[in-house]
Amino acid sequence: MLPNIAIIGRPNVGKSTLFNRLVGKKLALVDDMPGVTRDRREGAANLLGLEFNIVDTAGYEDEDAKSLPGRMRKQTEMAVAGAELAIFVIDGRAGLTPLDEEIARWLRSAKTPVVLLVNKAEGKAAESGILESYALGFGDPIPFSAEHGDGMADLFQAILPYV
Ligand code: GDP
Ligand code: MG
Repeated sequence: MLPNIAIIGRPNVGKSTLFNRLVGKKLALVDDMPGVTRDRREGAANLLGLEFNIVDTAGYEDEDAKSLPGRMRKQTEMAVAGAELAIFVIDGRAGLTPLDEEIARWLRSAKTPVVLLVNKAEGKAAESGILESYALGFGDPIPFSAEHGDGMADLFQAILPYV
């Protein structure tokens, strides 16, 4: 069985773009079991030859829920609990938001190891976002562009110990 890696982050940071890039043509394994896994997509990822099962979550995208437990839908909790590693994605162009910090607090209390990926980092627009992201406490962030494919080698290095 392939190791599980979960993609976590607030809406619009590029989680699904990252998922699609990692899964490539093998996309489309959509798990539409009712309830807990409603929005969960997973598929076999290949990153420079490294193979793992990747889970794209949308558990923080429930805008109706005001509290963190409300937003943290069950599928996200389950995805993180069942993963060897969580990739926490933030938007380097937007910089840190309160929701990023809230998710970070929750992830720090989870047992799953976390690598921090600063997406939308192509060009110079993400430079301050990358610097800010050190404050989240997950160590060196990985500057990345899910759209352009920048940062694949650094993501490979970060994931390698967990697969
Ligand atoms: P999700 O809500 O976290 O799953 O985010 P999506 O993958 O749906 O992407 C949200 C938006 O960000 C889309 O308009 C993407 O085209 C854009 N996006 C994703 N990755 C990148 C990137 O690396 N650079 C830039 N500039 N935009 C990106
Ligand atoms: Mg998405």
